Amino acid sequence: STQIQLTTRPAGSPTPENFSTVSVELPDLGPDQVRVRNEFVSVDPYMRGRMNDTRSYVPPFGLDETMTGGAVGRVVESTAESLPVGTAVLHGLGWRDLAQGPAAQFSALPDTELPLSVFLGAAGMTGLTAYAGLTRIAALKKGDVVFISGAAGAVGSIAGQVARKLGASRVIGSAGSADKVTLLKEKYGYDDAFNYKDAPVRQQLRAVSPEGIDVYFDNVGGDHLEAALDRLTTGGRAALCGAISQYNNTERTPGPDNMANLVTRSLKLEGFIVGQHQDLQPEFAEKMTGWLTDGSVVFDETVVDGIDHAVEAFLTMMAGGNTGKMLVRI
Ligand code: NDP
Repeated sequence: STQIQLTTRPAGSPTPENFSTVSVELPDLGPDQVRVRNEFVSVDPYMRGRMNDTRSYVPPFGLDETMTGGAVGRVVESTAESLPVGTAVLHGLGWRDLAQGPAAQFSALPDTELPLSVFLGAAGMTGLTAYAGLTRIAALKKGDVVFISGAAGAVGSIAGQVARKLGASRVIGSAGSADKVTLLKEKYGYDDAFNYKDAPVRQQLRAVSPEGIDVYFDNVGGDHLEAALDRLTTGGRAALCGAISQYNNTERTPGPDNMANLVTRSLKLEGFIVGQHQDLQPEFAEKMTGWLTDGSVVFDETVVDGIDHAVEAFLTMMAGGNTGKMLVRI
């Protein structure tokens, strides 16, 4: 099995030198185990946090150990009755071409018309993140004006469309290129969008939200969160999903300069981790499968070929080179 390991902890932005590719001989299967040929492995922003040796909601990656992460593939060898050869599965042994272990670590995927890769993105972890953040954390209601940062990424591209489904009256997005802004408006149904690199976010958000915003879905943190706090209306809610603008920081950044708005406008900011909202999975799966199948929710994937290019895929995603879900096809 070809596997990717972390060899040194990055300071600031990771570089290819922080990783190595190793070849691992897999033992014969024990009882109730499966071997899976991964078809797609996921690269995600939260993995940057796992490259640091700091306490978080998931333990850090070990040095000289194969990294883990979301993956989908098919069983190619099995001693488990529950998962016969050919079964399509979702599991956590990414960053490798062949995965192996107890059957209990692998979940059979539902039988749908959808391609397997979708269960890592729109119909998987990132889609559920968008859904949980909007429904449960931000408690989006009909008529709300919604602002989503990181809007052209895996979570953001789905969040914009789900916000519309939930009855948002206006959906505004930000992303890091003119092409992404066009896509937001023409493909993902955003009413308005801006490129955060064009001018200060505060200034651009104000221009596109004359009536203020009721909900902010934060994927970016920093200047985006600060700008949103200025625009949230009384009783506004922010779902704090991520802060990718800060993941490579080596120094502490100053906090938002306008936290007093929380008091004067009774704002509610709440962070969340999708793993704590797995109880929404059945409801989400039913709705999203329907929306994806009837085409009323669309999605993009940016695919890099070959396990040897997984690190490159991760670094490209962190730098904004992806639209929709970033994946490695094995
Ligand atoms: P994306 O597909 O959105 O990829 C990351 C994107 O971040 C890039 O494409 C880039 O787009 C953008 N980006 C990178 N640097 C910056 C920056 N300095 N300022 C603004 N944007 C930047 O990733 P995901 O959809 O998987 O994740 C989006 C966010 O959601 C992340 O913060 C992630 O940590 C979080 N997340 C949280 C979960 C939870 O349970 N709370 C679960 C899953 C994700 P651009 O070209 O627009 O700059």
